[in-house]
Amino acid sequence: MQFRKLKLSGFKSFVEPAELRIEPGLTGVVGPNGCGKSNLLEAIRWVMGENSPKSLRSGGMDDVIFAGTAQRPQRDFAEVVLDAYSADGEELQVTRRIERGAGSAYRVNGRDVRAKDVALVFADAATGAHSPALVSQGKIAAVIAAKPTERRMMLEEAAGIAGLHVRRRDAEGKLRQTEANLARLEDLMAGLD
Ligand code: ATP
Repeated sequence: MQFRKLKLSGFKSFVEPAELRIEPGLTGVVGPNGCGKSNLLEAIRWVMGENSPKSLRSGGMDDVIFAGTAQRPQRDFAEVVLDAYSADGEELQVTRRIERGAGSAYRVNGRDVRAKDVALVFADAATGAHSPALVSQGKIAAVIAAKPTERRMMLEEAAGIAGLHVRRRDAEGKLRQTEANLARLEDLMAGLD
């Protein structure tokens, strides 16, 4: 997967709509301390489905919405749009929007989808919100110190098989439900004899 463009509106310090084109090759983001460089990486994580307040340096989910300053009132929503090319070269647009007190909604290529669907899009592409491809400040030491099980999860994500675990859990759930239905059916049939 190749990321092409990131659009932010009302996300953290990006109160005005902002657009960042990500050209092939190396992209550097430079600026003084506190200007929002890390917020850009967090916007990428967030649109990919990140929900951990710790990863987003926030207390709650609404904290990603512009909180206002002495000069500007707070915003009621935040939106991040990520344009990418999928591994097959297809155009992909993922949107996440959060409204204060109302939670998040996702769209993929303009269609409303569940958070789970977005997680699968990125998990299969080995670029999930927890992907080791996204390294934030201080994370190198954490990777080195990771327990073997955590490191295995990172490797699975890097190998693009993390999505299979989600599908396996779904399939196991369906199997259990079907077995319960079957047992119930057998009980009913026994009652008919
Ligand atoms: P450094 O170089 O110090 O790591 P940085 O360029 O990575 O800094 P960030 O950490 O991305 O900067 O941005 C921090 C800024 O974002 C702070 O000024 C903080 O007040 C602002 N900020 C974070 N969340 C919000 C929010 N919800 N509303 C408004 N501003 C916010």
